[in-house]
Amino acid sequence: MTETLKVINPATGEVMEEVPVTTREELDAAVARARSGFREWRRVPGLERAELFHEISRRFREHGDELAEIMTREGGKPFIENRDEVDWTAACFDYYAEIARDNVGYLPAPIEAQQLALVIREPLGVVACIVPWNYPLLLAAWKLAPALAAGNAALLKPSEETPLATRRMVELMEGLPEGAVEIVFGAGEVGEAMVRHPGVDMVAFTGSQETGRRVGAIAAERLMRSNLELGGKDPFIICDDVDVEVAARGAVWAACLNAGQVCTSAERFYVLPQIAGDFIEAAKAHAESLVIGDPMDRRTDLGPLINEPGREKVERHVESAVRSGAQLVTGGGRWGERGYFYRPTILTGVTPDMPVMRDETFGPVLPVTEVRDLDEAIELANSTPYGLGANVYTLDFEKMLKCMREIRAGTVWINDPLTDNDAAPFGGQKGSGIGRELGRDGLQAFQETKHVHIDSRIEVKEWWYPYGE
Ligand code: NAD
Repeated sequence: MTETLKVINPATGEVMEEVPVTTREELDAAVARARSGFREWRRVPGLERAELFHEISRRFREHGDELAEIMTREGGKPFIENRDEVDWTAACFDYYAEIARDNVGYLPAPIEAQQLALVIREPLGVVACIVPWNYPLLLAAWKLAPALAAGNAALLKPSEETPLATRRMVELMEGLPEGAVEIVFGAGEVGEAMVRHPGVDMVAFTGSQETGRRVGAIAAERLMRSNLELGGKDPFIICDDVDVEVAARGAVWAACLNAGQVCTSAERFYVLPQIAGDFIEAAKAHAESLVIGDPMDRRTDLGPLINEPGREKVERHVESAVRSGAQLVTGGGRWGERGYFYRPTILTGVTPDMPVMRDETFGPVLPVTEVRDLDEAIELANSTPYGLGANVYTLDFEKMLKCMREIRAGTVWINDPLTDNDAAPFGGQKGSGIGRELGRDGLQAFQETKHVHIDSRIEVKEWWYPYGE
């Protein structure tokens, strides 16, 4: 019997479709097609690649509503957020279409005057791209666009939770040589078989720290390059010089976007004492005003969590914090009769040892700590093994500089939480990952470096044998 993935709509709990899991033989065939696709695609000139990328990006935009609807049904993220995700996905292809043409190497000074030294940036081969369910198209694009723009072929596996929009996305990438993009379906077993496959030259992985560690270890054993974008536990510092109302709205959005299931969700809040009371009051009022419900409804702010285990983890974190003495300001419970909804939740009186302040919660929860001063806020911000993103609210330039320099994170957002930029690298410090996506770094991640040394003359060099003359 064929093994299948049951794709469940997390807003209703209903099965949408069953997708056959890729078998070992099908994986081997996909890798073989990718290898031959790579040989063809790497020879396509940059301008031609760029034109095709712009066409693909145009198709994504044209099918924006369709893709966003599929994502909304399979993943539960509100339609409005998914519609944005399609546009960001398209923008990523446009960006790499152009910068890849401009980043194929450089010329170092040669050793002798009649020589030419070239540094060539080449594709690596077949790149295994493994993505999670929270931003299925965008996180695939952050790998596919630079990997393909650099001339690689891609073997893509969407999450077992959200294969449908990605399947449609790949259909819309028509025009690439056969095998340049191959899609496979399955959970960890298929993912691991991809990483171990001898026909794969690199793995680009986004997912949890635990899986990332395993993927990285397998890649290291094979001496194969890996790019690892892992989880986070992002801090959010609110200084006392800010408009508290705006900062509170920014905080609630940063914690509740995609029901808190963003790798860079703000998961720990450190507030200076002068404004702590006002901040909590404003955040409570705003959190209680959010519209929870059907993610297809354009007015919905907050959809469901991805699945029951995801919701149970959030419940465990909140309940254990309350048992250990934290106070529940608002929320702290399920919502609705069906689906995996959880109310926006604010906790105070939390301590650094609580799971809600230490481990990734991945839910709409704001645990708030009142700190003595900015030094303590930064020390606590740096106190977890994660280092993905960090947010700060202040207009005091000295405080901005201090936070910028002292917080250990791959991205520090000041007064504009969670805004990604195609042209700037994204990734984690410490346990949040190895490598970067986006920007020039995100292109080089998929390029191998070759030094070519050319001498225009054929002559005996004076430093050759015999030494005795
Ligand atoms: P996950 O680690 O469970 O799964 C991620 C992907 O890896 C899925 O496609 C899964 O099938 C696959 N996989 C599972 N086991 C594997 C194995 N042994 N070998 C190869 N592949 C395997 O993560 P998830 O629950 O899908 O996603 C949520 C996590 O992703 C969170 O920790 C979140 O912070 C993280 N995330 C990180 C970023 C980032 O850019 N840093 C972005 C989004 C999500």
